[in-house]
Amino acid sequence: LVRLRARLARSQGSLGKGLLALLSSDKIDEETWDDIESTLITADVGVGPTQELVERLRTRVRVEGIANAEEARSVLRSELVALVDPTLDRSLKTSRTDTKPAIVLVVGVNGTGKTTTVGKLARVLVAEDKQVVLGAADTFRAAAADQLQTWGERVGVRTVRGPEGGDPASIAFDAVKAGIEAGVDVVLVDTAGRLHTKTGLMDELGKVKRVIEKSAEVDEVLLVIDATTGQNGLTQARVFAEVINVTGIVLTKLDGTAKGGIVIAVQRELGVPVKLVGLGEGADDLAPFDAEQFVDALLD
Ligand code: GDP
Repeated sequence: LVRLRARLARSQGSLGKGLLALLSSDKIDEETWDDIESTLITADVGVGPTQELVERLRTRVRVEGIANAEEARSVLRSELVALVDPTLDRSLKTSRTDTKPAIVLVVGVNGTGKTTTVGKLARVLVAEDKQVVLGAADTFRAAAADQLQTWGERVGVRTVRGPEGGDPASIAFDAVKAGIEAGVDVVLVDTAGRLHTKTGLMDELGKVKRVIEKSAEVDEVLLVIDATTGQNGLTQARVFAEVINVTGIVLTKLDGTAKGGIVIAVQRELGVPVKLVGLGEGADDLAPFDAEQFVDALLD
């Protein structure tokens, strides 16, 4: 976790440091506020949240004044934390009930890091002594099932898969059935992220969910978003949120961008909390998202 935090700080430091430098300048004038605003917009914070933050900072500077860099840091920290919202419930439902495993669907556009996230998450759960089954329902991308199975073997959990180009819903059903029969704690289902048409996506994801729900309720729908794709990622996220009830966001590749503002924008836009962040390609590079830690990494 310390290592992950360091990596996050390295990639996100420039946003926080830039803001901090502006807010600690000797004279805060209109130009300073413009610069703060453009720093936030450039970091993908989004127009609405940016204006809100600037308004709040302006008020605090007017009312309290900022005497030194330390005070600037403290004001900025508390306003950023408020914007990221530490009150959101970011817990993952990954505990079995008396009767069934927790069912977690992982959705998102291809290439965002879905399969990798399923693998990393399986590893986290196994480390918590949970029994896990993986469902390789991404039958569209040729190598996806192999990739998932490799993760499964590495982590030591079973992967349920079907023929290439097979029916995703029937594989998802089989995975859930296998999980129920084996009495495991969690079934993680990887899905295909073809965003050819909204109705196509809706039909496919809707069917996967409906078919699973013949035997078990879905507990989490995690939407994977690539942090490096900025506004594009947001547009995709909107489409997914319209077709399926998303319960949490996984923001991947946060190690590859200094635009951490996307965390704020995406939560605002979808009204869904960021629950996990991906900070690299390795097995240990998935971390629970924590508002205060995130802001501290921005400002360190
Ligand atoms: P999928 O098509 O959505 O299943 O995407 P994959 O899981 O195959 O990931 C696409 C690429 O992104 C792979 O090369 C992954 O190693 C890489 N990737 C996934 N998550 C992260 C992350 O958090 N950081 C970085 N740097 N790369 C990632």
